[in-house]
Amino acid sequence: METSAKVSASKYNNKFKLNDNFMIIDFEANFNNYEEKILNNYKIFNYTCPVCGAKHSLSRHAKYKRYTCILYKNTICFDTIEILRLKCSSCGKTHAILPSNIIPYCVYSYSCIFTVLFEHFLDKKSVLKLSDKFNLSFQTIYSFISKLNAFVKDFMYVLRVLLFIKNNESTSIIYILKIVKDTFKNNQFIIVFFNITKWMFLMKKFLNTIPKPIWIGVCNT
Ligand SMILES: [Zn+2]
Repeated sequence: METSAKVSASKYNNKFKLNDNFMIIDFEANFNNYEEKILNNYKIFNYTCPVCGAKHSLSRHAKYKRYTCILYKNTICFDTIEILRLKCSSCGKTHAILPSNIIPYCVYSYSCIFTVLFEHFLDKKSVLKLSDKFNLSFQTIYSFISKLNAFVKDFMYVLRVLLFIKNNESTSIIYILKIVKDTFKNNQFIIVFFNITKWMFLMKKFLNTIPKPIWIGVCNT
């Protein structure tokens, strides 16, 4: 019997509309090494084209600027990153290559959001206190909590698949955040979540849109 969490996770796998946006998430790339590994890479990219399946067919096409907020020395800093688009010589589609610590369509990186959520739920810091500490509006902090709420079912589903939670066990958001904080280092949880659901954790944009107007794929060499 399918659990509601399974049904919920399967919604990610709906067919996307062709002609729209394609993103390849490179889980080996992050905000710190993106320039060296992707942006300044003039060699062949080893990704498989997510549209036509061609291998070694992707070459540099264009760059665009993307705003992002990252956590640096316990402060949330506003920054920009140049993102590279590749074009497939076989089907002509273009694909943006994203580092894995950025949530598509969200200006705040995982490190910002997780830090605020951990401090709120695990260290019991109030929204007011966090707003002062990180210079964030109440609205922004509540939007992080709202993202988390939108993903609670799937968050629990992934932790059940990984056997952190027993099948029939109901648990609290504090407990599951604690598992993530204590067990997964760096971006490990994001990678595991993506492998199981084929969706980026906390990416609310298009979450309930069917069919998906975008395609999110993983680096596949
Ligand atoms: Zn292609």
